[in-house]
Amino acid sequence: MEAGEECCVKVAVHVRPLIADEKFQGCKDCVAVVRGKPQVQLGTHSFTFDHVYGSTGSPSCAMFEECVAPLVDGLFQGYNATVLAYGQTGSGKTYTMGTGFKDGYQSGIIPQVMNVLFNKIGTLKHQTEFQLHVSFIEILKEEVRDLLDSSSMSKLDTANGHVGKVNSPGKPPIQIRETSNGVITLAGSTEVSVATLKEMAACLEQGSMNRATGSTNMNNQSSRSHAIFTITLEQMRKINIPNGGSLNDTMSEEYLCAKLHLVDLAGSERAKRTGSDGLRFKEGVHINKGLLALGNVISALGDEKKRKEGLHVPYRDSKLTRLLQDSLGGNSRTVMIACISPADINAEETLNTLKYANRAR
Ligand code: ADP
Ligand code: MG
Repeated sequence: MEAGEECCVKVAVHVRPLIADEKFQGCKDCVAVVRGKPQVQLGTHSFTFDHVYGSTGSPSCAMFEECVAPLVDGLFQGYNATVLAYGQTGSGKTYTMGTGFKDGYQSGIIPQVMNVLFNKIGTLKHQTEFQLHVSFIEILKEEVRDLLDSSSMSKLDTANGHVGKVNSPGKPPIQIRETSNGVITLAGSTEVSVATLKEMAACLEQGSMNRATGSTNMNNQSSRSHAIFTITLEQMRKINIPNGGSLNDTMSEEYLCAKLHLVDLAGSERAKRTGSDGLRFKEGVHINKGLLALGNVISALGDEKKRKEGLHVPYRDSKLTRLLQDSLGGNSRTVMIACISPADINAEETLNTLKYANRAR
């Protein structure tokens, strides 16, 4: 790595506290965070990451400052970025991202991103013109669904025995496209132009609600899909080009566009746990396809030697990685937050999550 060049993928671990249900079941805390070090211990296993946030102190605040705030700053310099929350169902992904508005909504990453973003815009707007767009989609069974399409309806998906959110009838399916200069676009999805924090928060709420009500069992469908909240920031900045010290400096305009993907990934638990019927298993396989491809892409990006040799990064192996292609690797910044439960009954999945996250480093 060149001097001053940083690895493009950072990995943090977020250990949530034992929840009431786990305490009620008599679960013991089996995860230890090593004091003063970004290190986690689980039984005889020990892993070191870029950052580790335990359940004590003020983790969400420090996590935002250290992991996410630099990405928001980068947006203003034109750098795309991605924040991914990874982990088994119940490990705290939605709580961490703030994609559920039931609880943890205000302290989640997305609401904090919005605050910082609008504060910064407020301080810069005298010299720069800003335009913000938001999209909120979900990838389920390798299909992209629009969470901001108000005309889409809930319909009973009899094959799966649950109420599924479907794209509006007659509307063509959303397609992931790549422009000639490598920009990934989502053709057919709703892009909402927002001018205020309130408007952006309304998009988050509407999409989160659409995601949750898409299923009869809230944890059911949302645990099998990847939810992606994307903020696109366009800037037109007036710049002064000094003209040899004379008074006739030239005014020029600089255009920048960057996007930030905030991703609440599908549950990482094994397909065998998803259910015994064939359909569920297929969904499990599909979900693993996205997570598997993501793991391969991130580990390829993290491999400095292979990167230098111009290694093929397998973005095309899933919809998820295809969609994130222009915001993972290259000049963009990525943070993966591995969410884990400290309960002993989850030890096996927690170990899987730590191994996956470790591979990403
Ligand atoms: P996931 O999205 O990974 O399935 P959730 O975010 O829904 O998990 O979290 C599962 C449960 O744990 C929820 O009841 C949530 O309120 C609680 N929880 C998650 N993270 C925390 C945390 N950091 N502090 C307190 N409670 C949490
Ligand atoms: Mg969730």
